[in-house]
Amino acid sequence: MKVVVCIKQVPDTKGGVKFKPDGTLDRGAMLAIMNPDDKAGLEAALRLKDEYGAEVTVVTMGLPKAEAVLREAMAMGADKAILVTDRVLGGADTWATSSTIAGALRNLDYDLVITGRQAIDGDTAQVGPQISEHLGIPVISYAEEIKVDEKAKTVVVKRQFEDRYHMVEAKMPCLITALAELGEPRYMTPGGIFDAFEKEVTVWGRADLKDVDDSNIGLKGSPTQIAKASDKVKKGAGEKIVADSADEAVDYLFGKLEEKHVI
Ligand SMILES: Cc1cc2nc3c(=O)[nH]c(=O)nc-3n(C[C@H](O)[C@H](O)[C@H](O)COP(=O)(O)OP(=O)(O)OC[C@H]3O[C@@H](n4cnc5c(N)ncnc54)[C@H](O)[C@@H]3O)c2cc1C
Repeated sequence: MKVVVCIKQVPDTKGGVKFKPDGTLDRGAMLAIMNPDDKAGLEAALRLKDEYGAEVTVVTMGLPKAEAVLREAMAMGADKAILVTDRVLGGADTWATSSTIAGALRNLDYDLVITGRQAIDGDTAQVGPQISEHLGIPVISYAEEIKVDEKAKTVVVKRQFEDRYHMVEAKMPCLITALAELGEPRYMTPGGIFDAFEKEVTVWGRADLKDVDDSNIGLKGSPTQIAKASDKVKKGAGEKIVADSADEAVDYLFGKLEEKHVI
């Protein structure tokens, strides 16, 4: 079985998001990490390696420094790593990102493609389903558990859905978008870290993408562009109404709304 995991290098937003004076994200001031959902997806792929001997390949599109997340993935146990990087791919929105990644995946054999549900910087959750559409394979999103039937070439996924779960079965090859709940990522091992630096990272550029038109890559191939980014406006402190009866509370609330000319 062959599993490809798409991983994105993102700024760590745990310590707060830092902006430059012009309002754009100050990526240099934040630590670069592997997107958390992708790490859970990688863990799921590594469990398939443990159980069925699956070959795990990790793919990222980004700047050359994104190689760091590929090395981390190999130190966790991934077998192969591919970095897709080229100046003409810069400024991509989700459409151009998914077109590019699909172009890279067309060069590979795979039974399963795993992406994270969502990247913590772009936050759109569009790239995984778009890749499946480009490749013409089924997608199961919001995966919390994956079971594979190797003989039948099917997967059964426990899919999170508001107040319930869906159990969804699909024929492989298919794409799954991973939730963090899919699995606590394993730590890198010291041996794995040494191996990761001995292994080669394959680097692909524009010329290596298969069946991708120039009109679908980079900034020029991006239908959406960010016009402006700003901090959320902070809300003022709320007020808890303490009253002897519901009628009294309602009267107080309406008085406040009238005072503020809301009603
Ligand atoms: C604040 C902000 C807002 C943005 N808003 C939009 C917007 O509204 N519309 C838009 O089209 N673009 C938007 N972008 C651009 C966005 O960063 C890119 O499109 C990005 O490359 C992919 O989208 P995402 O981060 O939302 O990924 P998501 O769709 O959230 O990512 C899902 C999964 O796809 C995989 N994946 C995504 N990118 C890569 C990659 N480069 N390499 C490997 N795997 C990857 C990962 O497994 C990831 O977990 C925004 C960017 C920022 C910083």
